[in-house]
Amino acid sequence: MDCIFCKIASGEIPSTKVYEDEQILAFRDLDPQAPTHVLLIPKKHISSADELNAENAAVVAHIFLVAKELAAREGLTNGYRIVNNCGEDGGQTVKHLHFHLLGGRKMAWPPG
Ligand code: AMP
Repeated sequence: MDCIFCKIASGEIPSTKVYEDEQILAFRDLDPQAPTHVLLIPKKHISSADELNAENAAVVAHIFLVAKELAAREGLTNGYRIVNNCGEDGGQTVKHLHFHLLGGRKMAWPPG
């Protein structure tokens, strides 16, 4: 499958990894939008949040627990944001489920 994040998960495309286990991978975003900008992905291909179901959704809870640990490791004691962009209107550009962990600056709300 021609999926850039599957290729990152397999090691075919290099990334700056910050966490890895048998289920998920976390690596630094190439185009960081905050001092900390890490992407967390399931290794198994799920194209978007809209493809989650009762069989594959447990990995999302795991991603959130790891995101919390990474936020602590990155020193984000004043808070952080976890973002999932889903589909065209959600601004999703890579069609492999991923969560952005952003921190190190004050975030605006609502997003643009
Ligand atoms: P989204 O717009 O939510 O689909 O987010 C995709 C993110 O992937 C963007 O923030 C990109 O900067 C990031 N990205 C794309 N290619 C790579 C790559 N090879 N390594 C790290 N981050 C990437």
